[in-house]
Amino acid sequence: MSTGASDDGFTVRYTPSPSGFAAEFYAHCARGELRFQRCDGPGCGRWRHPPRVACPECGSERWSWQRSSGRGTLYSWTVTHQPLAPGFADDVPYAVVVVELEEGVRLVSAIRGVARDALALGLPVEVAFAPASGDVALHYFRPRGA
Ligand SMILES: [Zn+2]
Repeated sequence: MSTGASDDGFTVRYTPSPSGFAAEFYAHCARGELRFQRCDGPGCGRWRHPPRVACPECGSERWSWQRSSGRGTLYSWTVTHQPLAPGFADDVPYAVVVVELEEGVRLVSAIRGVARDALALGLPVEVAFAPASGDVALHYFRPRGA
């Protein structure tokens, strides 16, 4: 396993081995693209995540991977103080965030480039990626303009 470290402190601590739709999602991340399923059902166009077969809005099984702007706002977060997973011990305390993307989907992720006590609901953020393997990159977020 390779570990990627970016210039703003994100270190890959775990490399998932996804399959199915999740593998496709992470492969897009490995190409530097945040993509979500978007419904191709008549008159729908709803974005969704996590990936699934059918649209929760209209039930259509027609969809395609569409590129997200990668921009969103901080919807929620929690701070982990205990190293419950030994591989993350060097990171505690760290924030796990929920970002609401411009397309309306929400994504559980990490955040860097902002102090934990500066986290605020609605904080404008943008996606970044850290390579974890040839087929997988992990997404995380930074404050926009940082
Ligand atoms: Zn739909």
